[in-house]
Amino acid sequence: MVATTQPPDEQTGLLAAIVDSSDDGIVSKTLDGIVTSWNHAAELIFGFSAAEMVGQLIAMLTAPGHADEMPRILESLRRGQRIEHLETRRRRKDGEIIDVSLTISPIRDGAGNIIGASKIVRDVTVAKRDRAALLEREAQLRSILDTIPDGMVVIDDKGIVQSFSAAAERMFGYSADEVRGLNVALLMPSPHTERHDAYLARYLSTGERRIIGIGRVVTGRRRDGTIFPMELAVGEVKGRERRLFTGFVRDLTERQRTERRLQELQSELSHVSRLNDMGQMASALAHEVNQPLTAATNYIEALRLSQASFASGTGSAAMLDSIASQIARASQIIRHLRQFVQKGEANKTIEDLPQLVEEASALALIGAKDGNVRVQLHFAPALPRVSVDKVQIQQVLVNLLRNAVEAMAETPRRELTVTSDVVEAGRVTITVADTGTGIAPEIADRLFRPFVTTKAHGMGVGLSICHSIVEDHGSRLQVSANPEGGTIFSFSVPAAAAD
Ligand code: ADP
Repeated sequence: MVATTQPPDEQTGLLAAIVDSSDDGIVSKTLDGIVTSWNHAAELIFGFSAAEMVGQLIAMLTAPGHADEMPRILESLRRGQRIEHLETRRRRKDGEIIDVSLTISPIRDGAGNIIGASKIVRDVTVAKRDRAALLEREAQLRSILDTIPDGMVVIDDKGIVQSFSAAAERMFGYSADEVRGLNVALLMPSPHTERHDAYLARYLSTGERRIIGIGRVVTGRRRDGTIFPMELAVGEVKGRERRLFTGFVRDLTERQRTERRLQELQSELSHVSRLNDMGQMASALAHEVNQPLTAATNYIEALRLSQASFASGTGSAAMLDSIASQIARASQIIRHLRQFVQKGEANKTIEDLPQLVEEASALALIGAKDGNVRVQLHFAPALPRVSVDKVQIQQVLVNLLRNAVEAMAETPRRELTVTSDVVEAGRVTITVADTGTGIAPEIADRLFRPFVTTKAHGMGVGLSICHSIVEDHGSRLQVSANPEGGTIFSFSVPAAAAD
């Protein structure tokens, strides 16, 4: 305690000096709670001067909700108990409630009787606020880390896992408790498992960065031993005492799956457009070849007539007959070819309509020259699955959507809406509405016939193919004027029996 080499007077003087220069409030009181001394720091903490407090009840400082605390403290003191670092609240003279930490000890007289208490008060309002702010920031950070889809793994410079986020738990299949304290190498496949310590040691001694601050695609190993592709970005934190490395991990499995699906879609698109090309080619072929065939037939007819009038040999007449039938056969082949292209090989499967529509829209809009079209897809809730030839129905949609986009090339409003709904039992109706130019009146009555087009480079076969595919699915392609300006095409497909 206080040095005992000084005479008692000096000792008291020294004590008084210490008490007065202390940053902590030092207060003494009787066992009845009457203040007997009050130092300068106590004046600052509570706002009451010594003159105001000495002789008053300490209970003046009670904060709301803490009324029963002082009697309990006095009771403990009477029993000779010391109270250490009691964190509680008190009220200042100006009414402000402050957080304080109290240490209270009994004061005994020469005979050892408890006659009062001395109290050391520390204002911890700021410290408490700081700590609360720190905790809040920590909680915020933790909630961010728990929400982001990337996993986070923090290791020290020995490779020992210090923290492991919720996303990392999901990715690797380990709980944070399981991996904390273990070497991070267990999250990697061979040969990295064996080499990771050396990688770290090399970095620490040479400073040469192979992954830190760079980010790479690597493989991770899950708890069940399976390996998955992941993108890893590592950051370094130099703390006061140690160095930490923070790894952010993104599971690429999902992305690769998406990329694979995109590739599949792409090949489906090329299939769809191949069918389209074939349709265009066949139609062009039919168109081109039909004319000379007709002409040839006419010539032969003329020749036959002239032969008859010259009454020459019958052999040449038979030959001319077979020429005519060969030519007829050629026309028939072309007709068949066109029929084949129109219908294709029907291959009906059970499909999820929203997915089918979404894919077709993506395909149709990939090539859209003007991306400035507002596309909306509406699906009625709980749509049944449908029984369709997926490629054919997508071909219909791609055709309708491309026509719609082309019809809106010059119009100020460009809204494309695809709606799917159950209008009649057992069927799902699909509607494609645009705000384009509307159907040109001169072709309106033969829209679904082949070679009807208003486009400089159009073949005019798209709608005729759509029409035939839709008929194959038990419906009719309908067209009407959009009340908002533009055109609405609609058709229906059968719902799958299982639904
Ligand atoms: P193409 O697109 O090669 O002309 P289609 O058979 O698909 O062949 O279309 C035939 C014609 O129908 C088009 O040239 C166009 O005049 C008209 N048409 C088709 N869809 C629309 C639409 N959504 N809005 C306005 N006109 C359309």
